[in-house]
This record gives sequence, C-alpha cells and structure tokens, in this order.
Amino acid sequence: MQSIFGDISYKENELMSRHTTFRIGGPAKYFFTPETDEEIFKIISICRSNNIRFLIMGNGSNMLFSDQGFDGAIIQIYNNYSIIDVREDGIYANAGALLSRLAAIARDNSMTGMEFAAGIPGTLGGAVVMNAGAYGGEMKDIIEYVDILEQDGTVKRYDCDSMEFGYRKSIVSRDKIVLGAKLKLTKGDKALIQARMDELKEARSSKQPLELPSAGSTFKRPEGYFAAKLIDDAGLRGYSCGGAKVSDKHCGFVVNYDNATCQDVLKLIEQVQDTVEKKFGVRLEPEVKIIL
Ligand SMILES: Cc1cc2nc3c(=O)[nH]c(=O)nc-3n(C[C@H](O)[C@H](O)[C@H](O)COP(=O)(O)OP(=O)(O)OC[C@H]3O[C@@H](n4cnc5c(N)ncnc54)[C@H](O)[C@@H]3O)c2cc1C
Repeated sequence: MQSIFGDISYKENELMSRHTTFRIGGPAKYFFTPETDEEIFKIISICRSNNIRFLIMGNGSNMLFSDQGFDGAIIQIYNNYSIIDVREDGIYANAGALLSRLAAIARDNSMTGMEFAAGIPGTLGGAVVMNAGAYGGEMKDIIEYVDILEQDGTVKRYDCDSMEFGYRKSIVSRDKIVLGAKLKLTKGDKALIQARMDELKEARSSKQPLELPSAGSTFKRPEGYFAAKLIDDAGLRGYSCGGAKVSDKHCGFVVNYDNATCQDVLKLIEQVQDTVEKKFGVRLEPEVKIIL
C-alpha cells in the first residue's frame, strides 16, 4: 500500500528512548530524519492535512517522552540537516548541527564566542528554541539571525531582537520550525579558546553526573534561588522514585540510574516540587519538555 508520505522515508514505531539523552520514551508512530527544507515542509503539510500530531526535535537532550510513546510524527532535525558554512564574521549552520561541532569549528577557525556552548549536548535548533546557556553565556549573545519555517510554509528571517529570547525561552513555539541560524563570532586566539573550552569541560564533568542518562537541569532556576540548592536543602539529594533519582552529584539533575520510566521521573519531579514548595514556598518549574 502507498504511504501517505509518498517517497519520504521514515521509521515506524521507533522507540524514543533511542533518541533522548534520558533514554526514556515509548514508540513514535512515525519517525522522520529529513534532509531538506522541502522535505520538512512536505512532512508537516501531510501531517496537517491528515490530522496527524507532529513534533520537531533535535538531539532530545531536553525532552521527556511518555512510556506510551507518541501517537504521531516525530521530525528529528539532526545530522541529516546540518550543513555548516564558515564566514568572515561567524558561522551559518542548519538547525541540525550539534553545538559541540560548531564550537570545534569555531575554534579551528580562531573564532571566539561559542566556548560556553561546547559542552551543551544539543543541536543549534534546540539551543535556539531554549536560548540554551551556560557559564555566563547564552545563545542570544551570539545569534545574529534565525531562519524560521512558518506555519504558512514561508521562511522568515528573525534578527536577534525579534526572537524575544528570555531565560530558556524564545519566540519559537510549536508552529515555528528553526531551519538555521547565523552566529556572530569574533576573531580570537585558538589556544585561548581551547583553554577556555577545556576549563569548562572540566567544570562540567566534575560537577555534573555525565555518566548517567539525564536531560540536564530538570528544573528552571527560580528567580532569586538555585534549584539545586533548594533541592539539596530540602534533603532530597539521592532521593529516588523507581529507577529515577535526584543525582547525588548534582541535585539539579534527575538521572535515569536504573531503567527509569517516564512515570518514575514524573513522580519524582512532583515529589521534589511539593517538598521544596512546602519547605521554602517556591514551586520549581520543569525546564525539561514533557511530551505526553
Ligand atoms: C548532560 C546535559 C547537560 C546540559 N547542559 C545544559 C546547559 O549547560 N545549558 C542549557 O541551556 N541546557 C543544557 N542541557 C539541556 C539541553 O542540552 C539544551 O536545552 C539543548 O539546547 C537542547 O537541544 P536539543 O537539540 O537536544 O533539543 P531537544 O531536546 O530535541 O528539543 C528541545 C525543544 O526544542 C524543540 N526543537 C528542537 N529543535 C527544533 C527546531 N529545529 N525547530 C523548532 N523546535 C525545535 C523541541 O520540540 C523541544 O521543545 C543539558 C542537557 C544534558 C543532557
């Protein structure tokens, strides 16, 4: 029988645990890894006209999928869509390019500005959506413009100001798709860039539980507080629900230490929220995108 997606290839019933850093999530009915703008647009229009739910993802490093999976189409904008163009004053890349790769290319070209992002395990698209940041830098500091596929199929260029970047947020909602972005970088000293990258890598691996699956910081930083400190002070270091637990190494991370299910993580998130709220009157908000 002819597929409704014509000649576009996809996988059926692909486990989302294979595509998320949490290693959690049941099967997606359709799983696409498109290579071109046209393919992305075609998949979406077919989904829309057939009432198929769809969702874009990058490296799945900030996502928690349900154990039941996703009854629709997952469109992963990743390696297949990751052309990188080094320019005089920065780098233009397609949304699927990994930040680690972009940071390495910037360094190889003696361009500074991306050091903060080298250890964030996401794609450029995901980092733009989340305004990802670390160690005093965030995407909004280096974005010159972003190309976005709009719901009507047109591609619109947004300059940094019109992206409405805030703490872990941007203008990109479910009906907008990041296709690519121009990063503005300046000339720097390759050895110094490398040294800063090494320093941040060391800081990350000494403080974060990188040896276990997670989605990074589970909660947003509440205004005036640090989520990890609140969780620690509430006595929740190492607290577990099923196979999910508050990392012993960094209380801001929920880790999947023993085949955790999505339910385990959700239960743990709720218990952390309730305990912290009871003790300190602050309701922690998940940073991780929960897809049920
Ligand atoms: C060990 C670890 C450390 C981390 N450290 C940091 C850190 O220091 N700082 C930080 O900010 N984050 C950190 N994170 C979280 C995560 O890496 C970032 O949020 C990252 O930017 C997500 O990118 P992604 O490609 O994995 O996006 P995904 O997790 O795949 O998606 C995130 C969101 O963006 C949407 N999306 C993804 N791509 C597109 C696109 N092209 N168009 C439209 N929507 C899209 C998805 O629908 C989803 O809503 C960490 C995660 C881990 C596992």
